[in-house]
Amino acid sequence: MARKIDNFIGGAWIPPAGGKRFASVNPADNRETIAEVSLSERGDVDRAVAAAREAFRTWRLMPPPRRGEILFRAAELLAGRKAELGELVTREMGKVLAEGLGDVQEAIDMAYYMAGEGRRWQGETVPSELPDKDCKSVRQPLGVVALVTPWNFPTAIPAWKLFPALICGNTVIFKPSSATPACAAAIVETLSEAGIPPGVVNLVHGPGEEIGEYLLTHPGVDAASFTGSCAAGERLEGLLGKMHRPLALEMGGKNAVIVMADADLSLALEGVLWGGFGTSGQRCTSASRVIVNEQVYDRFVEMLVEGAKRLRLGNGLHKETDVGPLINEQQCRKVLDYIRIGIGEGGELLTGGRQVTEGGCGNGWFIEPTVFGGVRPEMRIAREEIFGPVVSVIKCGGFAEAVEIANDVPMGLSSAIYSRDVNLTARAERDLQSGIVYINASTIGAEIHLPFGGWKHSGSGHPEAGGRGGALDFYSRVKVIYRDF
Ligand code: GLU
Repeated sequence: MARKIDNFIGGAWIPPAGGKRFASVNPADNRETIAEVSLSERGDVDRAVAAAREAFRTWRLMPPPRRGEILFRAAELLAGRKAELGELVTREMGKVLAEGLGDVQEAIDMAYYMAGEGRRWQGETVPSELPDKDCKSVRQPLGVVALVTPWNFPTAIPAWKLFPALICGNTVIFKPSSATPACAAAIVETLSEAGIPPGVVNLVHGPGEEIGEYLLTHPGVDAASFTGSCAAGERLEGLLGKMHRPLALEMGGKNAVIVMADADLSLALEGVLWGGFGTSGQRCTSASRVIVNEQVYDRFVEMLVEGAKRLRLGNGLHKETDVGPLINEQQCRKVLDYIRIGIGEGGELLTGGRQVTEGGCGNGWFIEPTVFGGVRPEMRIAREEIFGPVVSVIKCGGFAEAVEIANDVPMGLSSAIYSRDVNLTARAERDLQSGIVYINASTIGAEIHLPFGGWKHSGSGHPEAGGRGGALDFYSRVKVIYRDF
């Protein structure tokens, strides 16, 4: 029997006003329903916003160290449930178990980190130009914040938003992806058990286009944060831009790995396989373009094709699986369409390209790890985010050309270079146009203490994840105080 998951409003789990439900299903085996979930209506969102507004009156006054203690307890509780939650991530989202556990570990790390910020968080005191005068800045919460999160990191990304928003003294309404509601509910349960006061965290479930958009544009909300597709993000930018409210957008990527002639090719191979096919390529940081120097192109492509062929597709709960399913049928169709587009554009399909429906893959959404060679930078498969296990390899000349190709896309989230030449890697650090640059490591695996955010169309310009310069800056605002005495 699938579990029933309700909305969490004002400190209580309550069914949706309309009584309707939707199912969350295991993408590796669609015979398994993970949960029957509340299908919210606008009235449910209104109630959650009202609860958050009420709770803000007192939560903003709680000393930050006390707020931190609640997050510390949440971190301990999450750590105690790590094995169970890691398995839930794999069952509900599909990523392999090691990655499911990693997802939960990121949430735990963020909870501990933000718990500590409750004691470290500070403004500045500066000397005045005038006698008998104090000048200082303090940080204050924004108010009620709306958080809309994706399915690809179903515990980590909510944690990236929830914990900093809470430590800064905001109250929240959290609308997770409809594909991973049970993971979201587990985080909220943990916060509730840790002692978060009623109304400080509210959870509403429902479709993004209807309920997510209604929430993000709700007049009772003071700030909004969204992680998801570029198309949805750009639409929200249009709607919310006019509302003068802080808005954080984390959208897609078309992340490049540059492989120079002097690179350690085995290391680069490991990075491209992990960055391209980890999480079945469903990360905004996935390595979807590989720009390889012409001197090593043939050798590297041969290694990559062999490596991709060796990856075992299957249910992420099984120890021998390297690559799990795609999240759902719609994503599977989208990826297959891009594979067709790549073939139509003249890309050489070197391995993969097929949906797998046999063996243990019969009841899920599996696509073979796919490599296209001979890709030209202007092709759609080299410019558009696919969000699936498809890697496009582009041949290039020297370093300058590689960087030019890497930068010549509308997005700029993450990029990587493999080279043994410190001068080249230093220039890559300087010249790659992306929020994150990896040296001799792949494009995925960002850590939580530094800002995480994309340049260009990948984001709204100010990172809202990570520590200072990221989330703590986004979820608070500065007030300057002058006092004459
Ligand atoms: N944690 C991810 C990484 O750096 C980024 C989040 C995402 O892909 O959505 O690999």
